[in-house]
Amino acid sequence: MSREVITSVIRGATDFVAEAESKLDEAVKQYGADHPVEFPGTAFQLPMIHALMGLEITKLGQLQPVVAHCRELVRPQPAEQLWLPYLGDGLDAGVATLLAQETTCAIRYVNEEPIEEGFTGFISDTILRELGIQLVDGRMPGFAAILGPAPTDEIAVHTVRELQKRSILSFLLCNRDGKSLKDQLDAQGVEMGWDTYIVPVGRDTHSAIYILDWAIRGALTFGGHKKGDWQSCLKYCKDRIFAFGITFGPIPDDWYAVGAGAIVMGFPVISDDESTPEVRPSGVTTFEALVRQTDPEQIVPTCIEVRGVKVKVEEIDIPVSYSPAFEGERVRREEMHVEFGGKYSKAVELLETAELNDINDGEITVHGKDFDALEAGSATDLAIHVQVAGRKMKHDFDSILERQVHRYCNEAMGFMHTGQRDLIWCRISKGAFDAGFRLKHIGTILHAKLHDDYGSIVDKVAVTITTESDEVAALIEQARPAFAERDERVAGMTDESVDTFYSCTLCQSFAPNHVCMITPERLGLCGAYNWLDGQAAYEINPTGHNQPVAKGKCLDEQTGQFEGVNQFVYDKSNRTVEKFSAYSLMQDPMTSCGCFECIVAVVPEANGVMAVNREHAGETPIGMEFSTLAGSVGGGAQTPGFLGVGRLYLTSRKFISAEGGLPRLVWMPKELKEAMREKLEKRAEELSLDGFVDKIADETQATTSEELLEHLAKVDHPALKMDPLF
Ligand code: SF4
Repeated sequence: MSREVITSVIRGATDFVAEAESKLDEAVKQYGADHPVEFPGTAFQLPMIHALMGLEITKLGQLQPVVAHCRELVRPQPAEQLWLPYLGDGLDAGVATLLAQETTCAIRYVNEEPIEEGFTGFISDTILRELGIQLVDGRMPGFAAILGPAPTDEIAVHTVRELQKRSILSFLLCNRDGKSLKDQLDAQGVEMGWDTYIVPVGRDTHSAIYILDWAIRGALTFGGHKKGDWQSCLKYCKDRIFAFGITFGPIPDDWYAVGAGAIVMGFPVISDDESTPEVRPSGVTTFEALVRQTDPEQIVPTCIEVRGVKVKVEEIDIPVSYSPAFEGERVRREEMHVEFGGKYSKAVELLETAELNDINDGEITVHGKDFDALEAGSATDLAIHVQVAGRKMKHDFDSILERQVHRYCNEAMGFMHTGQRDLIWCRISKGAFDAGFRLKHIGTILHAKLHDDYGSIVDKVAVTITTESDEVAALIEQARPAFAERDERVAGMTDESVDTFYSCTLCQSFAPNHVCMITPERLGLCGAYNWLDGQAAYEINPTGHNQPVAKGKCLDEQTGQFEGVNQFVYDKSNRTVEKFSAYSLMQDPMTSCGCFECIVAVVPEANGVMAVNREHAGETPIGMEFSTLAGSVGGGAQTPGFLGVGRLYLTSRKFISAEGGLPRLVWMPKELKEAMREKLEKRAEELSLDGFVDKIADETQATTSEELLEHLAKVDHPALKMDPLF
């Protein structure tokens, strides 16, 4: 800790201890050592002394050893010349301050000194139970002790409103030249009280103990820690009670002393004053202990970041209903107001990790025409760019959080979202449009849900949404290397090198019996999740949609059946899928939901298979377009001969290896073939298939089975000489 800070802390603590000694002497003289002493409405006598020293103080005389201990805890100020380690001395002085303040305040109750109207004074156990439970179970994300007044009434109002918006309780205390933050809020007509989460506690610095007593009782009541177990009590406060202090203006010695006490409990202090020396890095607190933030707009975001408060957004402020019940809802063409992506226009979503200082939490930016400026029934380009930042956020988590965009958007009534990455397809219903749903509400949803579900890693979320075609194209360009990098991470791993696969059941809202089984060599059929993503998703949320699945005994090496996988799939498919082949199209293939990037289907006449991607709008050699095929393949059914896949699986070593693998591929759309040419050629080379990629027919060569057979014969396609598929 800074020498300057510790010097102030010790000066402040010295005064508090001297005051407590003198008040106690006077009280004992006036009332006698056996005179009762207590705070009103608590079973914990003097809670800080109870928790930290294990003493049940009921009489004035019992406070004498407490004050003596305070005196021991306050050491000399750091020397000007010889600098010895003084962090411990500063923290001890903080503890002395808490014990001394509690002593002085308890004597005030003995003296029956009135609590100023509009302030709470000591906070009872009843309120602790009512609100404290919300604090420890996360419904109330945290509380702030604000030492003021603020530099202006506007800053005072802005600060408490920003905390209110996040359901964070504000305790107000202290004064400067007699003026308190409460006076400022009164002047601005701000309603205060427990119901509004703005609670004036006291006009003086001593009132800090009422707030910290409230917190320490959380450790005793909800944490179940015993009196005197000071280490557990303080650790509980640090780990479970997300509190912090805000100081406005230059910090006087008495505020520093109280601040040191708060820091001992794990609660950092954020100062708006240029003169405050910072105390970094972390240790006693989760992150930094004393941080300067001079921009009034950034005070609350800084507090949230420094304390690691997990913000909960109670209500998603959008004009349509929001619930998992709408997740499987389809918006048919006749009900549609506008659409984005699919085969009609370009659309992309990208989530990226940003630096904490580079984004503002909750900032939602919209560019281009909104729903009301778009022609009804039209298709428009769309880009959704989500930036998240957090102390514990990792770049590796980007793809997992990005994949949630699908679910989060679908839970809004009248908003349909399918696909992923730069292959999304969204529709807005006429009903949602009429209700007032607009582009910015996509950002509102994503901000709220990412905080709610991923609060442990996400501190800030900013969303940019655009319908400007050039901006959409630019984001697609920006996103593609990121998508490629995610895919490459798993390259080189094999299914044999792991004993665990990962499940994904995210799409069960659409297809209740569907389970994706993700292996190192077979990614999820949406193309958005690979094995490492499954592993990372499990790390973030061990009870979520991605679970590790021990392969267990290998039952059939060729089709890729494993005992552990079969059992898992059976359990998670509502006991409908008894067997699961990881590498076969014909025997017990994986179920398909509706998100697949491609469909692989048997072409019986050609003794091979074709692959068609979602964006291909034309006919295929089996006489069905993608949309017709998707209708019969999806929904969570096992359909031998048909398989929904992620496009990268086409070039995997395990691509329908039970049926002979890549040499079976006889037809695919030209666009898909060209997009994948490099990877296809690499895999063909591994299999010593010379010129194979050009032997695969596309729609420029064949759209009927007759044309296809003619082409295959002409190029001598290897499928014609393979073992019969049937
Ligand atoms: S398609 Fe499969 S991997 Fe992708 S989100 Fe759905 S269940 Fe998960």
